[in-house]
Amino acid sequence: MIPRNIFVPLSRQIKPISTPRPISGVIPRHRPQPARVSGTLLPRKFSTTVRRETDFTHAVIGGGVVGLAIARKLQERRGSTVLIERHGGVGRETSSRNSEVIHAGLYYGADSLKTRLCLRGKSLLYSLCAKHQIPHRNCGKWIVAQDVQQLSALEKLHDFASNINVATHFLSKEEARRREPDVRAEAGVLESPSTGIVDSHALMQFLQGSFEDLGGVCAFHSPVTRIEAVESGRRGWEITVTCPSSTASKSNETTTITSSTLINSAGLSAIPLRNTLLPPTQHLTPYYAKGSYFSYSLSSPKPSTLVYPAPIPGHGGLGTHLTLDLSGRVRFGPDVEWTSDPSDYSVNDKNLSAAIADIQAYLPGVQAEAIGLDYVGIRPKLGKSSVTSGEGFLDFWIKGEEGFEGWVNLLGIESPGLTSSLAIAEEVEGVLYR
Ligand SMILES: Cc1cc2nc3c(=O)[nH]c(=O)nc-3n(C[C@H](O)[C@H](O)[C@H](O)COP(=O)(O)OP(=O)(O)OC[C@H]3O[C@@H](n4cnc5c(N)ncnc54)[C@H](O)[C@@H]3O)c2cc1C
Repeated sequence: MIPRNIFVPLSRQIKPISTPRPISGVIPRHRPQPARVSGTLLPRKFSTTVRRETDFTHAVIGGGVVGLAIARKLQERRGSTVLIERHGGVGRETSSRNSEVIHAGLYYGADSLKTRLCLRGKSLLYSLCAKHQIPHRNCGKWIVAQDVQQLSALEKLHDFASNINVATHFLSKEEARRREPDVRAEAGVLESPSTGIVDSHALMQFLQGSFEDLGGVCAFHSPVTRIEAVESGRRGWEITVTCPSSTASKSNETTTITSSTLINSAGLSAIPLRNTLLPPTQHLTPYYAKGSYFSYSLSSPKPSTLVYPAPIPGHGGLGTHLTLDLSGRVRFGPDVEWTSDPSDYSVNDKNLSAAIADIQAYLPGVQAEAIGLDYVGIRPKLGKSSVTSGEGFLDFWIKGEEGFEGWVNLLGIESPGLTSSLAIAEEVEGVLYR
């Protein structure tokens, strides 16, 4: 459950930090400080003719897994980074409403950012999880075909996987039957051994702790309501947070901080936030694809691997698949339903019967009456596009904004954003500093 936002001004919301460090715990307001970075750490792409006197070197808007990974990465450069989040803690939106799958990188175009960052992110994520005991499991995944057309889709995936050096292999009927007797795959099974699952909450807790231990500052209950580029960002950024007063008599309370750079990692709100600074001709339209999950209350059938149907060209998702959480609980979904409301987390049963039919195609023993409504996640989309490569494919948008200094926007960070998060952080660092 998302706790009530108590809307206390940014300056009073700095979380107590776990180890002593030389900051007061209060964001310095309107008190310019020289950035705590040496010349070599200043963004090389930015003008260095103007002395930067800002409260922070980096401000990251958005405390999802991607914003956290970016903030931690930038704080490693020994600058001063603030992570600004409107909710009372990290991971209250898309990052805690997904399938928690560590994707292998099979579905996106060869030259896409999604493929490159998914492959790099997968490797970084497995290493980080192993090193810091973040719960995860390399459980593998099956993609199943029921007819020749679906088998041909699997063959294309297999070819693509070998082109990008990701291991996949077909299973014989005998092996498939022996390993997962409950799974139906009339025409073939393609196995992806590098796919896995991760506890996304534990991952975000780790990233937050690591960021704060490096001296980074988390500002919760801090909805950003206004951004101003001072001299197009050359003299930094003013970021205003407005908190509705908790008492009826008081008016809203605002706080403004300054930062040398601004990273917009606001997930579902990233496009609207970017639009506030740009002329209408440069505005983008945000699209939202709701995905409902379905729970399963029985202990059987319970495969020990993830099971996905063959991808359907032009589909906004990857089909109603079977995923497992780390306790072994089976869940199905997500489906795809376009919505204009990015806060619409209501679960409805509109697609339940279609989902049951999809599931029964690969898991015939499933008991329809044990399948119930679970939770909803919403994909931030740049268009009503396909999630897989081919016509209409839209890539991650991770770019410095032309005409401005020190402003990076992250738009359309849908799947595989969780898998890619650590690599996205490297990418943002590269946009700022390389
Ligand atoms: C249904 C579904 C299934 C998915 N499955 C997978 C999967 O299995 N594997 C995988 O790799 N990826 C998956 N993804 C994608 C993955 O979940 C996302 O790419 C990732 O969580 C995005 O993280 P984020 O930090 O960009 O966004 P978010 O988690 O949405 O974080 C953005 C944050 O910005 C904050 N914010 C917004 N506006 C403001 C403001 N004005 N002021 C202050 N704060 C603000 C929000 O409160 C939010 O906390 C899935 C996504 C969905 C929807």
